Amino acid sequence: MSPRAHNPSARWTWCGRCEHRGYLTRGDAKAVRKRHHGEKGMAVFPCPHTEGLFHVGHRPDALSSGEIDRGLLRHQAVQAAAGRWSS
Ligand SMILES: [Zn+2]
Repeated sequence: MSPRAHNPSARWTWCGRCEHRGYLTRGDAKAVRKRHHGEKGMAVFPCPHTEGLFHVGHRPDALSSGEIDRGLLRHQAVQAAAGRWSS
């Protein structure tokens, strides 16, 4: 019985490809995102390298415009995760 088992933010595995935390379910990632109060544009997106892994990061600017395809979106998400996410 570990209290950490009920804490979604404790259930993550390091993604060496993105150099970023990866959550095992989209729900966990969303729960973690909720903790970032006041953080606009935080997005949950699937890891482009590892099946079944989800990352939380800043939503790429182009997403709101809907003018980019999903492949480019993933690329930008990885760039954002690698470059702007420091914690
Ligand atoms: Zn990843």
